[in-house]
Amino acid sequence: MYSVKEIYYTFQGEGAYTGRPSVFCRFSGCNLWSGREKDRKKAECNFCDTDFLGTNGINGGKFFNEKELGKKIVSLWKNKDNKNKPYVVFTGGEPLLQLDKKLINFLKLSNFEIGIETNGTIDLPCDLDWVCVSPKHENDFVLKKGDELKLIFPQKKINPKSLENLNFKYFFLQPMDGPNLKNNIKKTYDFCNKNKKWNVSLQIHKIVDMP
Ligand code: SF4
Repeated sequence: MYSVKEIYYTFQGEGAYTGRPSVFCRFSGCNLWSGREKDRKKAECNFCDTDFLGTNGINGGKFFNEKELGKKIVSLWKNKDNKNKPYVVFTGGEPLLQLDKKLINFLKLSNFEIGIETNGTIDLPCDLDWVCVSPKHENDFVLKKGDELKLIFPQKKINPKSLENLNFKYFFLQPMDGPNLKNNIKKTYDFCNKNKKWNVSLQIHKIVDMP
Protein backbone atom coordinates (compact mmCIF):
# COMPACT_ATOMS: atom_id res chain seq x y z
CA MET A 1 0.00 0.00 0.00
CA TYR A 2 1.36 3.43 -0.96
CA SER A 3 0.13 6.73 0.50
CA VAL A 4 0.37 9.46 -2.07
CA LYS A 5 -0.39 13.13 -1.54
CA GLU A 6 -0.61 14.10 -5.21
CA ILE A 7 0.49 13.14 -8.73
CA TYR A 8 0.57 15.60 -11.60
CA TYR A 9 2.18 16.35 -14.94
CA THR A 10 4.37 19.45 -15.02
CA PHE A 11 7.88 20.71 -15.82
CA GLN A 12 10.78 20.21 -13.46
CA GLY A 13 11.30 23.65 -11.93
CA GLU A 14 14.59 23.17 -10.11
CA GLY A 15 18.18 22.07 -10.63
CA ALA A 16 19.94 20.60 -13.65
CA TYR A 17 16.76 19.23 -15.26
CA THR A 18 14.87 22.52 -15.07
CA GLY A 19 12.30 22.57 -17.89
CA ARG A 20 12.13 18.79 -18.38
CA PRO A 21 8.56 17.47 -18.73
CA SER A 22 7.87 15.22 -15.76
CA VAL A 23 5.20 13.45 -13.81
CA PHE A 24 5.63 14.37 -10.14
CA CYS A 25 4.55 11.78 -7.60
CA ARG A 26 4.54 13.19 -4.09
CA PHE A 27 4.44 10.55 -1.37
CA SER A 28 2.84 11.40 1.96
CA GLY A 29 4.96 11.68 5.09
CA CYS A 30 8.50 12.64 6.04
CA ASN A 31 10.96 11.36 8.65
CA LEU A 32 12.24 14.84 9.53
CA TRP A 33 8.93 16.61 10.27
CA SER A 34 5.37 15.45 10.95
CA GLY A 35 4.00 18.06 8.54
CA ARG A 36 1.95 19.65 11.36
CA GLU A 37 2.61 23.29 12.18
CA LYS A 38 2.48 22.60 15.92
CA ASP A 39 5.55 20.36 15.55
CA ARG A 40 7.56 22.60 13.25
CA LYS A 41 9.73 24.32 15.87
CA LYS A 42 11.01 21.04 17.29
CA ALA A 43 11.38 19.26 13.95
CA GLU A 44 14.77 18.23 12.56
CA CYS A 45 13.79 20.08 9.40
CA ASN A 46 11.79 23.21 10.16
CA PHE A 47 11.74 25.25 6.96
CA CYS A 48 9.66 22.95 4.77
CA ASP A 49 7.49 24.70 2.16
CA THR A 50 5.59 21.58 1.05
CA ASP A 51 2.26 20.10 2.10
CA PHE A 52 2.89 16.36 2.22
CA LEU A 53 0.26 15.45 4.82
CA GLY A 54 -2.52 13.06 3.90
CA THR A 55 -3.68 11.88 0.49
CA ASN A 56 -6.06 14.64 -0.51
CA GLY A 57 -4.15 16.32 -3.37
CA ILE A 58 -4.79 15.98 -7.10
CA ASN A 59 -4.74 12.26 -8.03
CA GLY A 60 -3.68 11.48 -4.45
CA GLY A 61 -4.91 8.51 -2.46
CA LYS A 62 -4.02 5.08 -1.15
CA PHE A 63 -2.71 2.79 -3.89
CA PHE A 64 -3.05 -0.88 -3.14
CA ASN A 65 0.00 -2.11 -5.08
CA GLU A 66 2.70 -1.09 -7.58
CA LYS A 67 0.48 -1.78 -10.59
CA GLU A 68 -2.25 0.53 -9.37
CA LEU A 69 0.15 3.38 -8.65
CA GLY A 70 2.35 2.70 -11.68
CA LYS A 71 -0.62 2.74 -14.06
CA LYS A 72 -1.80 6.07 -12.64
CA ILE A 73 1.66 7.58 -13.19
CA VAL A 74 1.87 6.21 -16.75
CA SER A 75 -1.61 7.57 -17.54
CA LEU A 76 -0.56 11.10 -16.60
CA TRP A 77 2.36 11.28 -19.06
CA LYS A 78 1.14 13.75 -21.66
CA ASN A 79 4.13 13.94 -23.94
CA LYS A 80 3.44 10.79 -25.95
CA ASP A 81 4.38 12.23 -29.36
CA ASN A 82 7.34 14.15 -28.07
CA LYS A 83 11.02 13.18 -28.24
CA ASN A 84 11.26 13.35 -24.46
CA LYS A 85 11.47 10.02 -22.72
CA PRO A 86 8.74 9.54 -20.12
CA TYR A 87 10.04 10.74 -16.77
CA VAL A 88 8.72 10.51 -13.25
CA VAL A 89 10.11 12.34 -10.22
CA PHE A 90 9.40 10.82 -6.82
CA THR A 91 9.30 13.43 -4.13
CA GLY A 92 7.61 14.10 -0.81
CA GLY A 93 7.83 14.33 2.07
CA GLU A 94 10.53 11.72 2.00
CA PRO A 95 9.91 9.39 -0.95
CA LEU A 96 12.35 6.71 0.24
CA LEU A 97 10.00 5.87 3.10
CA GLN A 98 7.80 4.20 0.45
CA LEU A 99 9.49 3.87 -2.94
CA ASP A 100 10.42 0.24 -3.57
CA LYS A 101 11.86 -2.03 -6.27
CA LYS A 102 8.44 -3.30 -7.37
CA LEU A 103 7.23 0.15 -8.33
CA ILE A 104 10.57 1.05 -9.92
CA ASN A 105 10.55 -2.14 -12.01
CA PHE A 106 6.97 -1.56 -13.13
CA LEU A 107 7.87 1.93 -14.36
CA LYS A 108 11.10 0.81 -16.02
CA LEU A 109 9.10 -1.79 -17.95
CA SER A 110 6.79 1.07 -18.96
CA ASN A 111 9.83 2.84 -20.50
CA PHE A 112 10.00 5.53 -17.80
CA GLU A 113 13.16 7.18 -16.52
CA ILE A 114 13.01 7.55 -12.78
CA GLY A 115 14.24 10.44 -10.66
CA ILE A 116 14.07 11.08 -6.95
CA GLU A 117 14.33 14.11 -4.68
CA THR A 118 15.31 12.95 -1.21
CA ASN A 119 16.68 14.33 2.05
CA GLY A 120 19.32 11.59 1.79
CA THR A 121 18.66 9.90 5.14
CA ILE A 122 17.55 6.53 3.68
CA ASP A 123 19.38 4.27 1.23
CA LEU A 124 18.09 3.75 -2.31
CA PRO A 125 16.32 0.43 -2.97
CA CYS A 126 18.25 0.10 -6.28
CA ASP A 127 19.86 2.26 -8.98
CA LEU A 128 17.75 5.15 -10.29
CA ASP A 129 18.28 7.35 -13.34
CA TRP A 130 18.53 10.64 -11.44
CA VAL A 131 19.27 11.09 -7.76
CA CYS A 132 18.90 14.53 -6.21
CA VAL A 133 19.88 14.79 -2.54
CA SER A 134 18.93 17.76 -0.39
CA PRO A 135 20.50 17.26 3.04
CA LYS A 136 19.18 19.04 6.12
CA HIS A 137 22.15 18.36 8.37
CA GLU A 138 25.89 18.27 7.70
CA ASN A 139 26.38 14.70 8.97
CA ASP A 140 23.00 13.03 9.34
CA PHE A 141 22.53 11.66 5.84
CA VAL A 142 23.66 8.49 4.12
CA LEU A 143 23.34 9.22 0.39
CA LYS A 144 26.69 10.83 -0.33
CA LYS A 145 26.77 10.30 -4.07
CA GLY A 146 24.34 10.92 -6.87
CA ASP A 147 23.56 13.27 -9.72
CA GLU A 148 22.83 16.54 -7.97
CA LEU A 149 23.31 17.87 -4.51
CA LYS A 150 20.72 20.59 -4.01
CA LEU A 151 21.15 22.50 -0.81
CA ILE A 152 18.55 24.93 0.51
CA PHE A 153 20.52 28.03 1.49
CA PRO A 154 21.25 29.38 4.04
CA GLN A 155 20.84 26.63 6.66
CA LYS A 156 22.14 26.89 10.21
CA LYS A 157 23.23 23.25 10.38
CA ILE A 158 25.10 23.09 7.05
CA ASN A 159 28.04 24.93 5.58
CA PRO A 160 28.08 24.14 1.83
CA LYS A 161 31.89 24.04 1.88
CA SER A 162 31.72 20.91 4.06
CA LEU A 163 29.93 19.03 1.25
CA GLU A 164 32.19 19.88 -1.67
CA ASN A 165 34.11 16.60 -1.66
CA LEU A 166 31.01 14.46 -2.07
CA ASN A 167 30.53 12.48 -5.27
CA PHE A 168 27.87 14.48 -7.19
CA LYS A 169 27.87 15.73 -10.78
CA TYR A 170 26.16 19.03 -9.93
CA PHE A 171 26.18 21.23 -6.86
CA PHE A 172 23.24 23.61 -6.50
CA LEU A 173 22.31 26.14 -3.85
CA GLN A 174 18.63 27.03 -3.77
CA PRO A 175 17.51 30.13 -1.85
CA MET A 176 15.29 29.27 1.11
CA ASP A 177 11.69 30.29 0.43
CA GLY A 178 9.68 32.31 2.94
CA PRO A 179 9.68 35.87 4.28
CA ASN A 180 13.44 36.28 3.72
CA LEU A 181 13.41 34.99 0.15
CA LYS A 182 14.80 38.18 -1.45
CA ASN A 183 17.65 38.34 0.99
CA ASN A 184 18.29 34.61 0.61
CA ILE A 185 18.47 34.97 -3.19
CA LYS A 186 21.11 37.65 -2.76
CA LYS A 187 23.09 35.55 -0.28
CA THR A 188 22.90 32.56 -2.65
CA TYR A 189 24.20 34.55 -5.63
CA ASP A 190 26.97 36.05 -3.50
CA PHE A 191 28.06 32.62 -2.27
CA CYS A 192 28.01 31.06 -5.74
CA ASN A 193 29.96 33.95 -7.21
CA LYS A 194 32.72 33.35 -4.71
CA ASN A 195 32.56 29.54 -4.80
CA LYS A 196 32.60 28.25 -8.36
CA LYS A 197 31.69 24.69 -7.40
CA TRP A 198 28.16 25.88 -6.67
CA ASN A 199 25.40 27.01 -9.04
CA VAL A 200 22.15 28.80 -8.28
CA SER A 201 18.87 26.87 -8.56
CA LEU A 202 15.69 28.94 -8.56
CA GLN A 203 12.22 27.47 -8.17
CA ILE A 204 11.05 28.39 -11.66
CA HIS A 205 7.69 26.63 -11.25
CA LYS A 206 6.81 29.12 -8.50
CA ILE A 207 7.83 32.08 -10.65
CA VAL A 208 5.58 30.96 -13.53
CA ASP A 209 2.87 29.72 -11.13
CA MET A 210 2.94 26.03 -12.04
CA PRO A 211 2.45 23.22 -9.53
S1 SF4 B 1 13.08 16.87 4.63
FE1 SF4 B 1 12.09 17.78 2.83
S2 SF4 B 1 9.98 17.08 2.89
FE2 SF4 B 1 10.87 16.63 4.91
S3 SF4 B 1 10.30 18.39 6.15
FE3 SF4 B 1 12.31 18.84 5.26
S4 SF4 B 1 11.95 19.96 3.33
FE4 SF4 B 1 10.01 18.99 3.97
